[in-house]
Amino acid sequence: MTVLRSVHLEPQTGTGFIVRAGELLTITDPLGEQVSDLTSFAHDDPREWLSSGRTIDYANTIYVTTGHTLYSNRSRPMWTIVEDTVGRHDFLLTPCSPETFSIIYKTTTHHQSCFANLVQGLAPFGIAPDAIPTTLNLFMNVEIAPSGELSILPPRSRAGDHIVLRAEMDMIVGVTACSAELSNNGSFKPIDVEVRAPVSMRDDQPTRSAHAAPTSA
Ligand SMILES: [Zn+2]
Repeated sequence: MTVLRSVHLEPQTGTGFIVRAGELLTITDPLGEQVSDLTSFAHDDPREWLSSGRTIDYANTIYVTTGHTLYSNRSRPMWTIVEDTVGRHDFLLTPCSPETFSIIYKTTTHHQSCFANLVQGLAPFGIAPDAIPTTLNLFMNVEIAPSGELSILPPRSRAGDHIVLRAEMDMIVGVTACSAELSNNGSFKPIDVEVRAPVSMRDDQPTRSAHAAPTSA
């Protein structure tokens, strides 16, 4: 299968790129226990974006995994999760931002953040900071108590764990290697990003011609 794009995100960095409908996006946690924030916008009209609220509503769960469709704010399918070796991701919390660190962590100095990395990665595509929505926080492990209280636990991902999403439309995509201590069990690690071409009919049916009976006139 043809690899169209392969990016190794160093710890606490991010990137932006285009995917076309049918392409497969694989996000891999190469070392384990590392969160990666994902967001996307319709290529033809970036006022359409990946919606946590729509997706949770239609999936009827806060924990999306293999088989789930991820919807836009206009209720159109943006992604389908076709493979997921972890099965625990967060779609409730916003990308970590400078304010996350000042409000929650009481940090007074500069702290790198997913939000800043998404702003930088998406700027070349005309995406303004205020347009960045709640991200799908891949491998982030958030538990909810019956009272509603949240607990951010170490990711369940181990070295090499990954998720594969099929693009259902042409999109502008942002991906990070998360910068929040609490979300990543206290250390910052890389994330691998790969985009592969759609599976063609020929790839789908590699053995058909091999097994076909010879024809004669
Ligand atoms: Zn983050």
